[in-house]
Amino acid sequence: MGTTMVTMAQDDDPYREDRTALVRMIKSQLVELRAQSELSAPTDAVLEAIAKVPRHAFVPAHLAKMAYRNRPLPIGHAQTISQPLIVALMSALAVVDKSGKVLEVGTGSGYQAAVLGLLAGEVYSVEIVEPLGLQAAKKLRELGYENVHTRIGDGHAGWPEHAPYDAIVVTAAPDHIPKALVEQLKTGGRLVIPVGDFDQELVVVEKLADGTTRKRDVIPVRFVPLTRHAE
Ligand code: SAH
Repeated sequence: MGTTMVTMAQDDDPYREDRTALVRMIKSQLVELRAQSELSAPTDAVLEAIAKVPRHAFVPAHLAKMAYRNRPLPIGHAQTISQPLIVALMSALAVVDKSGKVLEVGTGSGYQAAVLGLLAGEVYSVEIVEPLGLQAAKKLRELGYENVHTRIGDGHAGWPEHAPYDAIVVTAAPDHIPKALVEQLKTGGRLVIPVGDFDQELVVVEKLADGTTRKRDVIPVRFVPLTRHAE
């Protein structure tokens, strides 16, 4: 099974201590964020997932040593793997459990998808830059994340075949919220998305029972733009 392979990968893991230190740091930062923002979701399962996923395997080999610093890193094609704290925060805001189905827009390295894979039942992730998406799919398969499904395409359209989703996590910033993504949310589902050009805000959109949405701003963030075409 997928999780067994993930656990085995850790046994000869030279980065285990670095990762533990990163998790401790993220934990204290999430406590601070909880005090200032509307992060009310539980974070224990998210921290457990961050403690398990080998981030060093998702960055270019020459950057593996830096994988457990709390910073974004280049992954090629002018894209970046997000900062671990932001991955943790977005995963917490998505509020998913093993019964849930999640859509990610912006597969990138596959790291956020792997973290969501440990939290959710099924993860569907869309990437617009083909070589990145294919590389992430290969990595996720090698590491045993069998419940993470990927495809190449423009995430503005979501992935309608598997909709509706309990949560949608977008890891690139559009200037406004794509309508298709809100449509593909279940009632009670949450869309976690950075919005804006230069000054971006991390926004959570919740779909209510009457079909309307409730929006709240969480914190200012900086993501690559959600593009319409592969660069
Ligand atoms: N979640 C990624 C973060 C990658 S950065 C990780 O954990 O590594 C954001 C990614 O979104 C980039 O790979 C970029 O190519 C992709 N992207 C940008 N616009 C997109 C679009 N319209 N549809 C799908 N992916 C897009």
